[in-house]
Amino acid sequence: MSAVLPSDKPRPRLDGPEQPFWAGLKDRQIRVQRCDHCGRHRFPASRYCPHCHGPHSHWDAVGGEGEVESFCIFHKAYFPGFAAETPYAVIQVRLDSGVRFFSNLAGGADNAEIQIGMRVRAVFEDVDDALTLLKFRTAEAKP
Ligand SMILES: [Zn+2]
Repeated sequence: MSAVLPSDKPRPRLDGPEQPFWAGLKDRQIRVQRCDHCGRHRFPASRYCPHCHGPHSHWDAVGGEGEVESFCIFHKAYFPGFAAETPYAVIQVRLDSGVRFFSNLAGGADNAEIQIGMRVRAVFEDVDDALTLLKFRTAEAKP
């Protein structure tokens, strides 16, 4: 059985290949791999660069500004912990550095206002002492 959040939501593995990413969120940074050969950022973690196949990289902090590339409204909860939040939106965000994340809009955003191309910025949602999640707000919203 996988670990779950206190609210029965699935919990990410914090000590796997993306450990620097999760540690970065605790420090209010988005840390992703940056290829030492072509300089492009990538996430999730991978041994070889998906752009140039270079084998060397380092972890680098990127900015939290980006835009919604796609989104989907979930009307059914596949995990019990999401039931109270339906219908909820899962957004695909492309940060200005080119890295993509699946996430949610924080702060009770109205699903009807989500549009492809809308500007968003990262916010850091503390779940507990070990876990902070990367969420987004519309660029116009106050923190
Ligand atoms: Zn590369």
